[in-house]
Amino acid sequence: MQPIETELVVVGAGPGGYAAAFYAADLGKKVILVEKDKRLGGVCLNVGCIPSKALLQATHLITETRESAHRGITFGPPTVDLARLRAWKESILEKLAGGVAFLAQKRGVQVLRGRGYFEDSQTLRVETEEGQKFIRYQHAIVATGSLPAMPKVFDLGNPRVMTSTEALEVEEIPPRLLVVGGGYIGMELGTVYAALGSEVVLVEALDRVLAGADPDLSRPVVQRAQKAFKEIRLQARVLSMATAGKQIRVVIEYNGQKLEELYDRVLVAVGRVPNTEDLGLENTKVQFTDKGFIKVNEYMQTDDPHIYAIGDVVGGALLAHKAHKEARIAVEVINGEESRFENIVIPAVVFTDPELAWCGLTEAEAKERGIPHEVARFPWSASGRALSFDRTDGLTKLIVDPESDRVLGVGIVGHGAGELIAEATLALEMGATAEDIALTVHPHPTLSETLMEAAEAYYGYATHTL
Ligand code: FAD
Repeated sequence: MQPIETELVVVGAGPGGYAAAFYAADLGKKVILVEKDKRLGGVCLNVGCIPSKALLQATHLITETRESAHRGITFGPPTVDLARLRAWKESILEKLAGGVAFLAQKRGVQVLRGRGYFEDSQTLRVETEEGQKFIRYQHAIVATGSLPAMPKVFDLGNPRVMTSTEALEVEEIPPRLLVVGGGYIGMELGTVYAALGSEVVLVEALDRVLAGADPDLSRPVVQRAQKAFKEIRLQARVLSMATAGKQIRVVIEYNGQKLEELYDRVLVAVGRVPNTEDLGLENTKVQFTDKGFIKVNEYMQTDDPHIYAIGDVVGGALLAHKAHKEARIAVEVINGEESRFENIVIPAVVFTDPELAWCGLTEAEAKERGIPHEVARFPWSASGRALSFDRTDGLTKLIVDPESDRVLGVGIVGHGAGELIAEATLALEMGATAEDIALTVHPHPTLSETLMEAAEAYYGYATHTL
């Protein structure tokens, strides 16, 4: 069979893969985008960022209306129509995936539906519905993403034991839900189910949840989750699980005891693993890290000169915007441009209630690495806008280099922190000093003023704190 010839083939149409394909087409390259799933958009669009945020946003409504009585506004108890909630969420995904397909078509990117498999360094075999197709390419970008980790102890083959993918389907509201893992996925989805009415118990093996964030920033999130969830158990470990009729029997080691409990569903959110199975990479020169991610350098090049890799499959921060940035770098390098992944600020956001976001250096990292730093804080209890939102459980803090006043890191917890961190990311990218932020006029009354006030606090003249 005559192979299809192309300049670039991209395997995987997630936020990394489709961004790479689109950018390369914009630069005039002949591009084929290979995707095995029926909808484009990858994990992020279909079973990750977008559906989780849609559900979080919808269920925040429940929490907000429950908490409005002291403002003189009361509602009756909410009723939840799961079928309509699912349909609404699904309509968003359809719209976005349709948009990606439209943009691919308009750019002349050929989308090939099927599973890609590397036959050698320059040949990809694709199993399509019409049979096998072979693509000969000059360059390939692997963007096959990641999959939820499912350690053996949880793998009962019982649909009541869910990963995030199934949990996002919200098939039902389980009366008792066990969430295993206190990372951002466990905390976000625990928040959704608790708002819907499930009794949520979360177990985390470490001594704190959201371990990547500074403790003063995760505190407001934990305090609220402790009220919303039935219990958060730290340094707790699931020893075994078994099907017990329509429930799951779980044995948990906690506080020196072995607790045997029944749950209606279990959500396993203990991390993600690179998606490199059945890809045929052993037929190329591509190498892997000791954790199984594809090994790349700062140019997104693998050990095979024809193959680049980006996104979750190369590890680092498993985030859509990191995948997107890497897509740009890989395409620019393939296009012969000077580009590399170096000193790039990747913000992290946890869309819990309240939201938690940070970028650059955390205070804990600065201490651990012995980096000279000063911390300036602005508590949201002093923000008029936070008071008008009725959400003063927030904090904005800057980590500053005392020598140069350069901002090394920013952390924000509070309503809308995910939006606010963008200004901080720009400040870090531009090498801003605390003075740059302090002297920039911020609109009043907004939560963005908390960044300015934290910067002012660094110099000891914040208007609204002492
Ligand atoms: P993916 O999005 O994983 O896409 C990979 C694509 O490759 C898939 O479509 C897959 O079908 C395809 N593929 C795999 N193998 C083959 C093959 N052999 N042939 C053809 N196609 C193949 N990130 C954020 O930044 N913000 C968030 O709020 C956020 N929330 C999340 C919530 C949840 C519940 C989860 C699970 C993840 C979330 N993420 C979030 C992470 C984000 O989804 C990922 O970082 C992002 O999707 C990675 O993009 P990617 O392009 O590397 O791969």
